[in-house]
Amino acid sequence: MTRDISTRILHADRAAGAEHGATHKPLHIATGYGYERAEDLTAVFQGDKSGYVYGRQGNPTTAALEAKITLMEDAVGTVSFASGMAAIISTMTALLQRGDHVVASRFLFGNTASWFSTLTQLGCEVTLVDATDAANVEQALRPETRMVFVETIANPRTQVADLAGIGQLCTARQIVYIVDNTLTTPRLFRPKAVGASLVIHSLSKAICGHGNALGGSVSDTGLYDWAAYPNLLPAYRKGAQANWGLLQIRKKGLRDLGGTLSAEHGHRIATGAETLTLRMERACGNAMALARWLEAAPLVSAVHYPGLKSHDQHGRATDLFSGYGALFSFETVDGVDPFDVLNALELVIKSSHLGDNRTLALPAARTIFWEMGEQMRQSMQIADSLIRVSVGIEAEADLLADFEQAFSKLGNK
Ligand SMILES: *Cc1c(COP(=O)(O)O)cnc(C)c1O
Repeated sequence: MTRDISTRILHADRAAGAEHGATHKPLHIATGYGYERAEDLTAVFQGDKSGYVYGRQGNPTTAALEAKITLMEDAVGTVSFASGMAAIISTMTALLQRGDHVVASRFLFGNTASWFSTLTQLGCEVTLVDATDAANVEQALRPETRMVFVETIANPRTQVADLAGIGQLCTARQIVYIVDNTLTTPRLFRPKAVGASLVIHSLSKAICGHGNALGGSVSDTGLYDWAAYPNLLPAYRKGAQANWGLLQIRKKGLRDLGGTLSAEHGHRIATGAETLTLRMERACGNAMALARWLEAAPLVSAVHYPGLKSHDQHGRATDLFSGYGALFSFETVDGVDPFDVLNALELVIKSSHLGDNRTLALPAARTIFWEMGEQMRQSMQIADSLIRVSVGIEAEADLLADFEQAFSKLGNK
């Protein structure tokens, strides 16, 4: 019998043998690793033996977390990084060369969008498209297109990419398909099901959940045939073919760029991951209740949540995900200042970050999406009054009460 994933996550460290019978993987903070014989050190260096040589390339604690993420994504392997951005940038830097072309969703987390403009300066071309329709992705493809990048549910407007359609397209054309699964998490969705090659996570968000660690990861689903990828160096075309891509990402990305996840943060993320299922279920329920309440609130002009029937991709989200996520955004009617709404909230924290146990809200256009300018915000469908809410695991009634008191304060103005 195959046990449920929630059970397997809890027992993953022991299954792989944690030292002294510890119930979870201990914290390994050594920078260097020593060997009795120089031959053994050399064998590990050359990849002929598994082991650790230097902390920048990982340690047993982060390796245990990587194994857990691999399990969660039903992947063949995972490389962890110091943050979600480090995972995205290291992966692309490791796999792309000057002259390559990337197609990405236009609906992206702000810092990822900012990175794509840097990537353009480094000599790659990036085409941003409305990825809610695979036809737009198809139109943008060129002979030199090496990868397609999308978020499952886009932060902050919650557009749901045409995940399955793009997967078919990438599979047929042998293009690396990278899916950022941060907002859905493996509890709601596994990108492998729609043909993703690589799955990205900001582990800082719901997988950690407690807002006390930064981390990122990239997992290989095993679906992409790396023999077909022109930029893989001969040195990394060795061993099992399914590992070639990750090997180059680990060497050219993690080792050379150095965005290494610390053991302490890796340990906290692994502990947080143990309760991902419970937390996501609670947070998704809260998000649905708040989104429904806000949709009926007179001072609110729009609510963007894939769980609402009014959402453009509600049907797709229902088909693909086993829940609608813990993030939504809403707009206020003309004349209601979103800052007044935010300031009237007493329980909800005015804060960046998402996927936290606590409910957080921020004025999206004037914070994360400010630097990019109005034109770009318009193309991302981010209204000036947009408030992003990352819903936590507080009691539903307390969250509803906070929004109720905030809006009644505004209504009485
Ligand atoms: C936060 C976030 C990132 C970046 O992750 P960090 O850990 O903050 O670097 C990437 N993608 C999405 C969808 C995010 O929400």
